[in-house]
Amino acid sequence: MESNKTNFKKKSVWNWAPNRPVENSPLFEWPISFVKIISWIKLNYFSLSIRIFVILMALITWLLATPSLWSCKEFAVSWMAWIYCRNLILIFLVAGGLHFFLYTFRGQGDKLKFDHRWMAEESKLFSFKNQVFDNMYWTLVYAVSFWTAFEIIFLWSYANNLLPRITWSSNPIWFVALLFVIPIWHSMHFYWTHRALHYKPLYDRVHSVHHRNISIGPWSGLSMHPVESFIYLTSIVFHLLIATSPFHLIFHLQFLVFNAVIAHSGFEGIVLKDKKIVDVGRFHHQLHHRFFECNYGNAEMPWDRWFGTFNDGSDGAMKDIRKNRIL
Ligand SMILES: [Zn+2]
Ligand SMILES: [Zn+2]
Repeated sequence: MESNKTNFKKKSVWNWAPNRPVENSPLFEWPISFVKIISWIKLNYFSLSIRIFVILMALITWLLATPSLWSCKEFAVSWMAWIYCRNLILIFLVAGGLHFFLYTFRGQGDKLKFDHRWMAEESKLFSFKNQVFDNMYWTLVYAVSFWTAFEIIFLWSYANNLLPRITWSSNPIWFVALLFVIPIWHSMHFYWTHRALHYKPLYDRVHSVHHRNISIGPWSGLSMHPVESFIYLTSIVFHLLIATSPFHLIFHLQFLVFNAVIAHSGFEGIVLKDKKIVDVGRFHHQLHHRFFECNYGNAEMPWDRWFGTFNDGSDGAMKDIRKNRIL
């Protein structure tokens, strides 16, 4: 495996940190570099990545585990309960599965683990004095409920022709293009709503629940006060404005949910036989949990760079941010 030698003085701060500075996607770089854009698309859409995982899961969910739109015309308990149970199963499979492998079973020890610390126990900071139980409580009680409620309301709206809609056969190019557009939209929504949540009164009452987690794990991704869960998921107002389909709605919701879960896993990647087989955690966001006043967005769009809050992980980055931030 690659050694953790770095130009940045990280060894004391991190158990593991990438050797290179954190980078944004090349989609908004000027001058445009087609070579970089093509390799970014290859990495995200044509190899084993969080995005491909979510696209496949959304496709399977839509085709095999979603009631027909015809049956969603009325708010009947049977199909709504089905969606709730299916979402509960999915969150346990993904967050529970990752947690079990990385933290309970410690399947790869601390290889590629960003933070030195493991999940806190006997800590007064957390509900039930236990970080994992605390994180599971906020995720299962609030985030999964809002996720399910939004999905039900939007499916009902599609069934009753209340939303602009396309199908695969009516517009196949736009159908596929939406899988690129939705993450970009989300990146913008996330940056601005997240910055608003750092406004002190909102931070103290709402966002501080998420920031109890400095060392993070898969269950931390959606460990949010209900007001934050709600705001986070409102990214799907996109479907009120733009013609999409129930598949895109399911993809969008699952992208919000599982991108958060996987990106918070606390490890850069999953290691099998000393080889990283897939990226999971995002150092970009890990830095936000450690230093708070940086990296409010994600790497998809350079909002942090544009507004002077980008931390690439190098020494002195926080000093520059305090000097250069706009707003
Ligand atoms: Zn977070
Ligand atoms: Zn934050």
